[in-house]
Amino acid sequence: MRHLLVVEDEDFSRSLLSAYLETGGFIVSGVGSGEQGLAAIDTGKIDVVLLDLGLPDLDGIEVLKRIRARSAVPVVIISSRERLEDRLVALEAGADDFLVKPFDPRELAARLKVVLRRSSGSSQRSESDSQELKELCFEGWKLRFATRDLISPDRVEIALTPSEFNLLAALASAPLRVLSREKLLDSIARKEDAPIDRTIDVLVSRLRRKIETDPRKPQLIVTIPGFGYRFAVSVTEAMSSNGAG
Ligand code: CA
Repeated sequence: MRHLLVVEDEDFSRSLLSAYLETGGFIVSGVGSGEQGLAAIDTGKIDVVLLDLGLPDLDGIEVLKRIRARSAVPVVIISSRERLEDRLVALEAGADDFLVKPFDPRELAARLKVVLRRSSGSSQRSESDSQELKELCFEGWKLRFATRDLISPDRVEIALTPSEFNLLAALASAPLRVLSREKLLDSIARKEDAPIDRTIDVLVSRLRRKIETDPRKPQLIVTIPGFGYRFAVSVTEAMSSNGAG
């Protein structure tokens, strides 16, 4: 069973969510502050996080940034902040999804299913074993499908969020071809969220900060103005040598 952490200071809302998600097959832990949430994530046992933005000790965005500094665990924001800017700030800081309160718990359950399907180590993924073992290599980088992470040219493991991994996999799977934002959006399956252009653009800027030597002068993920992006280097495909990399 998946272990879900609810970080929410309103007792009633936290209990209600916990009870609903427990009947939906999750193991649920609930905490009421950002610091407690971070401590729970540090146990390494959390599979997905529901994070409220209005917390008594730390702002939720700050909590999210601290989560991302240590973990690629999927994070779904639940917040009464409904401005587009709030959604973009959360996405930029590494959120995987964003639900505005009040929401129907059935919608939350559906979004969690999508986020978990995209996330690493899922046993429910439908790809074949060969897909699981695939690696895409470019410019000394190695994108590993088995672990859904990235190895840098100097062999540092770089964690990617589910959306970042899916977007980079889509780009590197079609090297030197121009891909539209719509097509890239399909690959990360978040059509229902923020406007198309900004969702992909924000994710691309996150990826550039991880893989480009100078994110302001990108050499790998190149912008095609008014259309989309192109992965601008050639890519070779390999099979992983099972834990040796
Ligand atoms: Ca709150």
